[in-house]
Amino acid sequence: MKAAVLRAKGDLVIEEVRAPESIPQGYVRVKVGAVGLCGSDVHYYTHGRIGDFVLKAPMVLGHEVGGTIDGVGDGVELPVGAVVALEPGLPCGLCHPCRRGDYNLCAEVKFFATPPVDGALAEYVLHPAAYTFLAEGLDSKQAALAEPLSVGVYAVRRAGIALGMTVAVVGAGPVGVLTALAAEGQGGDVQLFDVRRDRVDQAAEMGFNAHLIETRPHRDYDVVIECSGSAGGLGFAQDHLARGGTLVLVGLGEEGDMQLNGLKISTRGWSVQGIFRYANTFPAAIHLIRRYRQRLEPFTQHGISVDQLSQYLAEKSYLRVLKTMVTF
Ligand SMILES: [Zn+2]
Ligand SMILES: [Zn+2]
Repeated sequence: MKAAVLRAKGDLVIEEVRAPESIPQGYVRVKVGAVGLCGSDVHYYTHGRIGDFVLKAPMVLGHEVGGTIDGVGDGVELPVGAVVALEPGLPCGLCHPCRRGDYNLCAEVKFFATPPVDGALAEYVLHPAAYTFLAEGLDSKQAALAEPLSVGVYAVRRAGIALGMTVAVVGAGPVGVLTALAAEGQGGDVQLFDVRRDRVDQAAEMGFNAHLIETRPHRDYDVVIECSGSAGGLGFAQDHLARGGTLVLVGLGEEGDMQLNGLKISTRGWSVQGIFRYANTFPAAIHLIRRYRQRLEPFTQHGISVDQLSQYLAEKSYLRVLKTMVTF
C-alpha cells in the first residue's frame, strides 16, 4: 500500500509499504478515505521537529483521519463498511491523569504522526475499536474534521460556555473557526477576530460574526478563546475579557509571546484554562459536523491526491486554503 513518509525535514515521499494483514483483537482495519493536512504535519515537514518532538527516523504523517472499516478483529462489534473518524491519541489508561479522565494529559500517549509514532497517511491503518467512532451520514472528509473540531469542543466545554454567554475567539484559522462553531453550537454569542482580511471575509461567508482585530470592540466578553498563539492575540484577549471571565488558551506560540498579566488575572478574578488536545470529544464533534455540514463545506472542498502531496508541501500550496484534504 502507499504511505506518505516524511524521511527528514523537507523530504516527503510516497512509499510502498506492507499493508496490515492480520487484525489484532479489539482493533479495526480502516481503509483511509481522507486525511486533513494539519499545521503540525506542515511543521514537521518544514522544521523536522515541534518543540521536544524531533523527527529522528522516517515517519508517516497525518492524524486527522476519516475512512471506512475494512475489517475487524475479535471482539469488535463495529460494522464493516461504516464511515468512521479515528481519535489519533492512544493514552496508557493507567496513569493518574488517565484514570481521572484527563487522558489528553497522559505523558505516555501514542499520537499519530508525533515522533516516533507513525500517522495515518496510508491506504490502510490499524486502530483500536475503542478510539474509532461511527460517523453515520458523513463522508470520509467530513469525518476527518472530527479531530480538529475536537479541540474546539474541548475548549468550549472547559470554558463552561452556556446559552447567551458572550464569546470572542481570536484567530480565524482552521482551529479558530472550528472553535467558534463549537461555541455557537453551545449557544454562545460568538465573535471571531483575526488580523487577516481574507480570513475574516472567509469566516463571514461561513456565517460567523467576524471582524478584523484592529476594529477593537467596545465591549468585554465572558469568555475569550485565544487560538492564534501570538502576542497580539493574547494582548487582545487580556484587553477584552470581562471581570470574572474565563481566558482559554488554545494557540501555541513562542514562549516569549505567550505572556499573561498576573496582576489583572488576580484583580479581575479571571479564570485561565489551558487546552492541550482533547478528551472524550469525538461523538460530540461528529454530531456538530452533521448539524453544520453546509457551513463546513469550505473545510472539505480542497482535496488533493496523496501522489501530489510532496509537491504540494514544497510549493506551500496549503497556504491558499482553509483546510487541505489528502485523499487516496
Ligand atoms: Zn491537527
Ligand atoms: Zn496515561
